[in-house]
Amino acid sequence: MIPTRIEILGVPIDCVNMQSALQTIEHYLEQNQPKSVIAVNPEKIIKCHADKNLLKIIQQAGMIIPDGIGAVIAARMLKSKKMQRVPGSELMPEICALAERKGKKVFLFGAKPEVNMKAVSNLKLKYPDLNIVGSQDGYLSEEEMPSLVQRINQLETDILFIALGSPAQEIWMSKYLNSLNVKICQGVGGTFDVIAGNVKRAPAFFRAIYLEWFYRLASQPKRLVRQTALPKFVYLVIKQKLGFGNKLKGNSKN
Ligand code: UDP
Repeated sequence: MIPTRIEILGVPIDCVNMQSALQTIEHYLEQNQPKSVIAVNPEKIIKCHADKNLLKIIQQAGMIIPDGIGAVIAARMLKSKKMQRVPGSELMPEICALAERKGKKVFLFGAKPEVNMKAVSNLKLKYPDLNIVGSQDGYLSEEEMPSLVQRINQLETDILFIALGSPAQEIWMSKYLNSLNVKICQGVGGTFDVIAGNVKRAPAFFRAIYLEWFYRLASQPKRLVRQTALPKFVYLVIKQKLGFGNKLKGNSKN
């Protein structure tokens, strides 16, 4: 029920596929403690090497999903562990379908006001019986957060989706998760933009050959700076595979 957790270059990640990730979500929905769901990809792994606070937040997550093919390949190469890619943007609609079936209450926090509203209306079209109890755009001040937390709790939200981008959404979760009465809190990055139809996912062809990252890069060149993490990740994985190690300071395992 609870997936095996391994470490890739010192950053934890759970050995899941879409089916087992959903089983874990179902299990967490029956518990009384809020659980965070955080997506990890090569970019975030490299970010963790410089940002120990982000690493600590990820280490405490309820479930850490392998969002990028890079993490899946690295898990096979370094740990001989099989996992499948579980993109946060694909897990969120599956969780919505589950919430619709089980009558769970959902709240959407994040993205620009018009994107947030459009994501809510598109989700209602796709899942007519989904109980979206509330929503809030992601451009609130820090002073407004306590009343947002209060609102989420008053609405008896079961599942909170947060789309603030990374690491903002992880930092938000680490600050507020323990004040929330939700069961699940998933950080979904730019997924509301995809659901709203603002950002297109890569065509099936690119996804099938695991080149979604390349498509996103070509269609949003401003991501180039962020993708410089990828060659560094590949270098570190190969270095570790060859036995030269990449211990993260403060971590006992690699
Ligand atoms: N965002 C937000 N509040 C902020 C900054 C960003 O709600 O203060 C939203 C932004 O509108 C977008 C999402 O966070 O919807 C970030 O998307 P991106 O694709 O950069 O996230 P990633 O999945 O790559 O981390």
